[in-house]
Amino acid sequence: MKRIIFILKLSTATLLAACQNTEKPVHSTIQKNQTMSNFTVNKTEEEWKKTLSEEQYHILREKGTERPNTGKYNMHFEKGKYTCAACGYELFDSDNKFESHCGWPSFDNEIGNGRIKKQTDYSLGMARTEILCGKCGGHLGHIFDDGPTKTGLRYCVNSLSLEFKSANDTLK
Ligand SMILES: [Zn+2]
Repeated sequence: MKRIIFILKLSTATLLAACQNTEKPVHSTIQKNQTMSNFTVNKTEEEWKKTLSEEQYHILREKGTERPNTGKYNMHFEKGKYTCAACGYELFDSDNKFESHCGWPSFDNEIGNGRIKKQTDYSLGMARTEILCGKCGGHLGHIFDDGPTKTGLRYCVNSLSLEFKSANDTLK
């Protein structure tokens, strides 16, 4: 009998462990929802899934990272503005974009103070500063203080978190 109980306990523990693993992304989504009240654009995860592509959803809502040197804006240096791909909020100007050789679009400043929210991210076993769209809370990337320009900042952003508005288009 003891042996059966032991086996039962063991299988329950295994099941629980399996559940925890599969539920991890959902759990982090819930946590994010709880902090979403600070943002003016609030949508449910179901609504975001309908408006974003699968890849964009993964980056913006699940804090994913696109593979380096694959993003459409990594080597993109046209004049214009970069907006949040989720809500259209203007975040960066092309004047602040520079080639950082890190594989992701990099900027040395944001368009206006407070447009981008910063919070400490302890994932990957280190403390980094995550950057989020100040309007919808979409994950953009991270900010580092090793920038080569006079601001000393490097906003390292996923292309999938951004949309580009050409300066030529806005003049029309
Ligand atoms: Zn946004």
